[in-house]
Formats: sequence, C-alpha cells, structure tokens
Amino acid sequence: MFKKIYKAIKKYDTIVIARHIGVDPDAMASELALKEAILLTFPKKNVLAVGTGGAKFAYLGTLDKLENVDYSNAMLIVLDTPDQRRVDCPEIDSFSYKVKMDHHPFVEKFCDIEMIEEEKSSACQLVLELLYKTKLKRNQSIIEKLFIGLVSDTNRFLFNSNSELFSLIAKILKEYPLDLPSLYQKLYMRPLHEVRLQGYIEQNMKVTENGVGYISLTSDVISKFSADVGSAGNMVNNFNYIDEILVWTMISEDKKNEIIKINIRSRGPVINTVAEKYHGGGHKFASGARVTTMEEAELLVHDLDRVCQEYIKNMEGGEEK
Ligand code: AMP
Repeated sequence: MFKKIYKAIKKYDTIVIARHIGVDPDAMASELALKEAILLTFPKKNVLAVGTGGAKFAYLGTLDKLENVDYSNAMLIVLDTPDQRRVDCPEIDSFSYKVKMDHHPFVEKFCDIEMIEEEKSSACQLVLELLYKTKLKRNQSIIEKLFIGLVSDTNRFLFNSNSELFSLIAKILKEYPLDLPSLYQKLYMRPLHEVRLQGYIEQNMKVTENGVGYISLTSDVISKFSADVGSAGNMVNNFNYIDEILVWTMISEDKKNEIIKINIRSRGPVINTVAEKYHGGGHKFASGARVTTMEEAELLVHDLDRVCQEYIKNMEGGEEK
C-alpha cells in the first residue's frame, strides 16, 4: 500500500496534507514532515500542510493557508484521523483523490486509499515507513520532526514498544544522529503557570469507588492559571501510575466554543467504547470526547466507573483461577 500511496503522490501536482482538529505533536509533525519529504523529492509540486496550529507547536514549523487550490486536480492526504467529521480541512469532498494514513481504530471509509494500521504507534511512524519503503527522500529536519511526533504519541515508548518499532528507530539513529536532550526540550518544556495548574488538579482531583480520577476545570479556573483549554486537557498525560486510579479524565469547559472537552486515559480498562457514547473516540487506553453540559460529563464519569468495576471483577476472577 505504501507503493500505491507513493504512485498517487507522484501523479498529483497539487497535494494538500491535513489531519485531525485539536492539533497535537504527532498530527502536526507528521503533516509537516510529509510535506517536506514530498517537496524534497518533487520540488515543483504545490504541497500544502493545513489546519489550525498552535503557538505551542511553532517549533515544528508553520502551516499553510488553503488557498488557490484547483480541487478537481488535487489530492488530499489525511493523516491520523479515522473519521471525516474530525478532519481539519474544508471541502474534503471536492478533492479529486483522497488518501488516509491512520493508526486509530477504523471508524469510516472516506478516502480512495485507506491505510489503517492500528498496531502502529503513531502517524509519524506511518510516514517514516512511507519514507523508508518508497523513493521519497528524507533529511535530518524531516527525521527530527517525525521522531518528536512519535515520541509524543507513544509517551516516550510507553504505549508502543514492539521490536519492529525499535528496529525502525535503530535504523534512523544509524543514519541521522539525533540530539535527544534538545528534541525532548522542545517537546516537553512548559511554562510555570501550567505546572501550577497541574498542582491544582493534583489537590482537587476526585476519585470514584472503582478508581476513576476526575476533575472539572471551569473556564474560570483555567483562566485563573492563565492556561488554555488545550493545555489543561493535555495534562491528562501526567497522571499515570497513581495507585488508586485506573482511569483518569480531565473535564475542561471551553466557554468560547460552548463545549466541554474531555480527555481520558487508562492503564487497563478499555475506554474508547465509553468515549464513543459521548461524541468521541480514540484508542483503547487514550480517548477523548465532547459534551455540552456538566451533567453529561458526570454520566460519562459514571460509565467509566462501571467499566473499571467490570475490569476489577475480571481481574479478580482471573487471579482466582
Ligand atoms: P487527546 O486526549 O486529545 O490526546 O486524544 C486522545 C485520543 O482520542 C486521540 O487519538 C484523539 O484522536 C482521540 N479523540 C480525542 N477527542 C476525540 C473526539 N471528540 N472524537 C473522536 N476521537 C477523539
């Protein structure tokens, strides 16, 4: 399938690369790195990497405006997004050819070529493999971006650690010396006010009977710490390995967009089935959802608690055998 994608890239002179709304390092790094690789290989092509960015990820590069595109002769590559409604690009249906490269569980088919590799760590890994399995060129800057995205999505190789992934990393390290401390600094540096917000969450997180840690962050609290909804939600990644907590969730009010954003993580129970019930989805152990009222958010916490209860029951049953 990589060859088929390469052939399509070769054929189209205008290529737009998009990814999901609510940008994260894997999504943004994969689209910018792929754009760079296509331009390095085919300098005359018109290649745009689009979507709403974030000042936080400016170190990865800048995104393009979707302008002057003759859709009837353009190809769209969608990275890291399983469903059309979450693609951060308008006019998807106007493109003449569409390719999807994703590592989420399948949700729906909306492209001509659909590469869905759920066992892969990240969109960046898929792009890396595309570079190594086809004639697309690579350089230091492309590899650094892809490495940062991959490290971010695997939480420093916590979620995915199979030998295939490490072989790929060994291959890139042989070819490109990576200055890990400086790359990690770009990815993980954060302002003090965010750390203070984390302290607030640590102090105020509630825990249900079966081990769901949750906190509701109102717009007022988020502003008090001079944070934004995105960075508040991202803190969900900092709450693993708490003895009493199996599943944890940040419930962040986004007053401007009139939604409540929910980020969920788990170290055992499968949570994406619950997220799907609340206009969300994602991976088994890392999901997100969106609701409109705090009451709905409470129902979600209740459902997560039930999933934990079931998980604990199964674990105990397993131990007895
Ligand atoms: P996040 O907590 O934003 O890092 O998201 C974790 C995972 O859940 C990612 O794979 C997201 O693509 C997915 N996800 C987050 N929010 C939603 C949503 N509203 N609908 C579907 N998937 C989501």
